[in-house]
Amino acid sequence: MTTDALEQRIRVLPESVINQIAAGEVVLRPASVVKELGENALDAGALHITFWTERGGKDLIQVSDDGIGMSPIDAELCFERHATSKISTAKDLYNLLTKGFRGEALASIAAVADVNLYTRRSQDVVGTHVHIAFGRKLLVEPTRCAVGTTLVVQKLFHKLPVRRKSLRSDATEHRHNLQEFFRLAYPHPDRHFRFHHNGVLLYDLPATTLQERILSLHPDLHWEDLIPVEETTPFFKVQGFLVSPEGIPPQEREGFLFINQRYVRHVGLQQAILQAYKPFLRGEQRPQYWLFLTIEPSQVDVNVAPSKTEVRLLREMEIRAMLHSIVRKAIMVGRLTPSVQWIEKTTEILPNSSERVSSLVMPSYQEPKLIEHPPSPVMNDYMLLYDRYVVLRREEGVWLIDLLSAHQRILYERYLKNLPISSQGLLFPVHLSLSPLQVARLAEFLPELEEIGLRIEIRENKEAVLHSIPVGLAPASGLSLLEEVVRLAEADLPPDWRAQVVLHMVRHGTPRPPYKLTPEMLETLWNDLIACSDSMYSPTGRLIRFLLTQEVLEQLFSIR
Ligand code: ADP
Ligand code: MG
Repeated sequence: MTTDALEQRIRVLPESVINQIAAGEVVLRPASVVKELGENALDAGALHITFWTERGGKDLIQVSDDGIGMSPIDAELCFERHATSKISTAKDLYNLLTKGFRGEALASIAAVADVNLYTRRSQDVVGTHVHIAFGRKLLVEPTRCAVGTTLVVQKLFHKLPVRRKSLRSDATEHRHNLQEFFRLAYPHPDRHFRFHHNGVLLYDLPATTLQERILSLHPDLHWEDLIPVEETTPFFKVQGFLVSPEGIPPQEREGFLFINQRYVRHVGLQQAILQAYKPFLRGEQRPQYWLFLTIEPSQVDVNVAPSKTEVRLLREMEIRAMLHSIVRKAIMVGRLTPSVQWIEKTTEILPNSSERVSSLVMPSYQEPKLIEHPPSPVMNDYMLLYDRYVVLRREEGVWLIDLLSAHQRILYERYLKNLPISSQGLLFPVHLSLSPLQVARLAEFLPELEEIGLRIEIRENKEAVLHSIPVGLAPASGLSLLEEVVRLAEADLPPDWRAQVVLHMVRHGTPRPPYKLTPEMLETLWNDLIACSDSMYSPTGRLIRFLLTQEVLEQLFSIR
């Protein structure tokens, strides 16, 4: 036997190396730290969670929570690999109620960054401070700190030049951080979240309902754009909101899917939702939704990849099919039900999110208001609903019409096609103070503006006075119109400025409901509408009219 036979080339790696290797999977970029620390704070039952980041997280990611905190022993143990308080046996893997369970996030982060932990439980008088950097514990000491936990992560990847170089610009990393922040904030509207970047508080989201959290993160959406969803099937429960196809802004393309309050990517389910939306989408539009599935934990395997956003579902096929028909039905019902009124009604009486979501599903049905009207030979078979929508019977079927969108379309085309636009004087002219530069810019364009119905006077080189606006607009929209015009003048009137101003006019100046309607008015409106280049969608992309045919009804009622 040669000595060669005793050669030992295989070694068990030291812990520090193992942690660095694991960090390669768990900590890809600053956003991974945002996600892991945020999840830990949620698992710790925190009601307030605050993030601070600097330079897209490259210099600093700090997360503070008011959760249960850690004992001095746990404060040291938490950085050990596979150290977790969340599971203890393999069986627990099939009954996961927490976001974390692998016990490797803190070990991985501490292997590739400089980390300070401050933590205290409510029953302890003093807290614990642990300083650990690039896998080496540097300090453990008692400290004064608030109940809860603060983790300060600095110098991410500083000792790993290759990883550091693979990071993108601060702005890009910042975007990724925010994306993780939103994925935590949506499923937990009952917690208060804050997010700072470079010293500026960007998001302050107090505890609220899901619907309000969505709206506060999407100022461009309206109550009536959100279609509530809530269904229980044998395999899962789903609740949340879909954005109605008309309400989806063209540049918006993200749907959020959560399983058991965890943000997940699941191609199969996302496809099912996309397919359900498809018949209602136009052009480049993509579905926008926040759907929360609750599935028996034993039916879900989250332990697929370290980031835990990939999941496997035992009943994937059944869930896909059911989700598809639930979404399709919700969109169709959402289109047929004027939702504005009952949503506003239910908000005050319902305090918490889960109750509110469920009661939104079945609106209390209100008797439509019937308008008494004399018979007209053409348009006498109609109903005005909620002072805004019209149900009109014609040969081809029953039309549902949104008068606001119809008005917007008609005014838009009238203004763009008939220059100069005739104007109406304002009883109370609108004043706006201007900087010298704004005065100079605006002065150049006064004749063009007059041509589109805006008569503006410049006074004493420091103030604009709007004297008239186009016929048909609500006078209250004068100020916002003047501001918009000043903005465009400052930008030297971009080539499509007329269309921009006119769009602004109809969006903000079209008289709002309640509307009154006579058969004659309806007839004029209908004729004006069908003469438009697009009589189906408003200039802001909302549906104007919908034809309720026998086929649509059959489809609607055949969904189960
Ligand atoms: P996991 O979340 O998978 O358990 P982590 O490495 O993220 O693994 O955390 C390890 C342990 O440290 C957790 O199980 C928890 O007991 C404790 N811990 C981490 N962060 C916090 C926190 N913010 N508040 C209280 N305990 C925490
Ligand atoms: Mg964790």
